[in-house]
Amino acid sequence: REVTPEMPKPSPKAAVEVEVSSRDRVIFPESGQTKGQLADYYAAVAPLMLPYAANRPISLVRCPQGRARKCFFQKHDSGSFGDHVFHVPIREKDGGSEDYLYINDADGLVACVQMGTIEFHGWESRADAVEKPDRMIFDLDPDEGLDFTDCRRAAQDLRRQLSDIGLVSFAMLSGGKGVHVVVPLTPGHDWETHKDFARRFAEALSTAEPDRFVATMSKAKRKGKIFIDWLRNQRGSTAVLPYSARARAGAPVAVPISWDELDSTKDAHPFSIDDAEALIERSSALHGWGFTEQRLPDF
Ligand code: ATP
Ligand code: MN
Ligand code: MN
Repeated sequence: REVTPEMPKPSPKAAVEVEVSSRDRVIFPESGQTKGQLADYYAAVAPLMLPYAANRPISLVRCPQGRARKCFFQKHDSGSFGDHVFHVPIREKDGGSEDYLYINDADGLVACVQMGTIEFHGWESRADAVEKPDRMIFDLDPDEGLDFTDCRRAAQDLRRQLSDIGLVSFAMLSGGKGVHVVVPLTPGHDWETHKDFARRFAEALSTAEPDRFVATMSKAKRKGKIFIDWLRNQRGSTAVLPYSARARAGAPVAVPISWDELDSTKDAHPFSIDDAEALIERSSALHGWGFTEQRLPDF
């Protein structure tokens, strides 16, 4: 089936009908934000977030008692998310099939928050075409001790290298330590091709500049370098979605950023869930972020 490739329009702010219980429960003890504030954040940024988050299998980081208590990564439905969170059966390696979750609107986001969700992570393919990836993400993980300046310079280098082989890319601040370089792709190729391309691209960079970049997981080899984590790009892997909150101190959020703006950014977490209004305001300058028609070149 053909997937409509055009950029979804942000929908106007919709009234959310899902009710949130325990609104006063503190979810971020260091900075004091509550479950109610987290739900309101997602309702407010839903029009910005849904073009990236809707109609896509998601995994959730749930911390029902707040970020300082037990958190867990949830991929499958537990039967309790309600009418606004949908299921998509996905074939498993063993031949069986499992129901994954996806959402389509602000109610879906808030229904997940009601269930204790802080973070939303997404597959790199859509729920209606899971076998055809539509974005490639290079997750840049700087080793401790490296400056954010090193990380943003690395992101700009990836952008240039991608551009040299004809690919447009976009930058996202993870809300944690690093930058994600996002390459939108017209669906068509399979996961094998996708993963293979990502691996070879990351390895080419680390081979060219072994003092700066590393493309293998091994912690020992990462000392003082930036790990180009290409492993997001395999079937079943996820990456944190644009505008997702993070279960980290201060309630930071992952945010799209323009390449120009990245140059003057001091760290990967300049915004928090308190900043919905500012995020909405700056979003007009980011129109088109993460969307373009392009296919993987020969590499
Ligand atoms: P940072 O910038 O601090 O590295 P990040 O979101 O990139 O933030 P990573 O630790 O690099 O965090 O993880 C990359 C991605 O791997 C996450 O966004 C997430 O989607 C996925 N991931 C992380 N933990 C798990 C987990 N326990 N199970 C499955 N996937 C995970
Ligand atoms: Mn990372
Ligand atoms: Mn990583």
